[in-house]
Amino acid sequence: MVSGRTDIAELELTELEDAVSELGVERFHARQIYRWVYRRGLERFDGMTDLSVALRRQLEAALMLTTPQIAARDQSSDGTEKFLFRLADQRTIESVFIPDTPAQTFCVSTQVGCAMGCGFCLTGQMGLVRNLTAGEIAGQVRVLARELELQDRRFNVVLMGMGEPLHNYGATMKALRMLATPSGLALTPRRVTLSTIGMVPALKRLAREPWLPNLAVSLHATTDAARHELIQTSRKQRLADLVAACRSFPLKHRDRITFEYVLLDGVNDTEADAHRLVTLLRGLRAKVNLIPLNEAPGIPFSRPPDLHVDRFARILASGKVIVSVRKSRGRDIRAACGQLIVEGGPRQSPGQQAAQMVNG
Ligand code: SF4
Repeated sequence: MVSGRTDIAELELTELEDAVSELGVERFHARQIYRWVYRRGLERFDGMTDLSVALRRQLEAALMLTTPQIAARDQSSDGTEKFLFRLADQRTIESVFIPDTPAQTFCVSTQVGCAMGCGFCLTGQMGLVRNLTAGEIAGQVRVLARELELQDRRFNVVLMGMGEPLHNYGATMKALRMLATPSGLALTPRRVTLSTIGMVPALKRLAREPWLPNLAVSLHATTDAARHELIQTSRKQRLADLVAACRSFPLKHRDRITFEYVLLDGVNDTEADAHRLVTLLRGLRAKVNLIPLNEAPGIPFSRPPDLHVDRFARILASGKVIVSVRKSRGRDIRAACGQLIVEGGPRQSPGQQAAQMVNG
């Protein structure tokens, strides 16, 4: 509730039904409103032409709809498009549209900044500024769908932008339920991938969710010592516990957990690392996504030579691990993994703050 009006951007359909019912309005109108907001991208009630004028006025007086506003938009020569969103409190976040992957994919943020402290990620250097609300997470998707005219087509959503989705668990899962609403964008779990560094208790909680997205776990190292060095917050947990939680994660027939592995020259790209990774993942329904680092100012690591990347991938493949090397998209507009930059915002030092989308 802001200025006495309820913000429907934060409401699931059943909550919206309750909200309109409290106004003495029939509950079924909530579905019409949801359709206008998510399927047509409206931000105001006055355009909802299947509602009477009197009802639109009543809704406008009692309810509001907060929507992230596009502050900048940049397109790469490969079609990747980066959106800078301004939130109601003037904080900024970034989302990326990646076309033809082979589907259309939206990469969205779940936090402003991030508390996880990955050493190769500039967002990690910002620390956590604040969590996004469910409405702000879902809002990125509804604006992208509208701007790219994809509301009536299928698209994927990856939670790999700024932030660690499991560190903002409630809002992230609520946003997914809002996006899954049939009278809205009707997103199915198969089309959503949640990318996490793997906070074990939250991972176990996620495993019990009825609406279960695909899972991508950012591993980035094959020993506890190396992982603790690369990901500050992983110091409280052991790789063995993380892999055990992944082993008991429910997977549908033929599904696999994706393990993301950023390759850093001379740090985690050795033959020994590759062999250890094979051992670690043995028996797991896994695929490994190798991501040669996208170098950026402020990141104290280098991209390994292609020869090392190939060697690493070959060792995994010969150990019967499904492996792919991620092709970088949008590097010319700094929209590739590890290159998102967000400038400005009240608590960010000008020209320096950066949001890096390696993996949420
Ligand atoms: S890589 Fe992801 S989890 Fe790690 S600091 Fe960056 S945004 Fe956070």
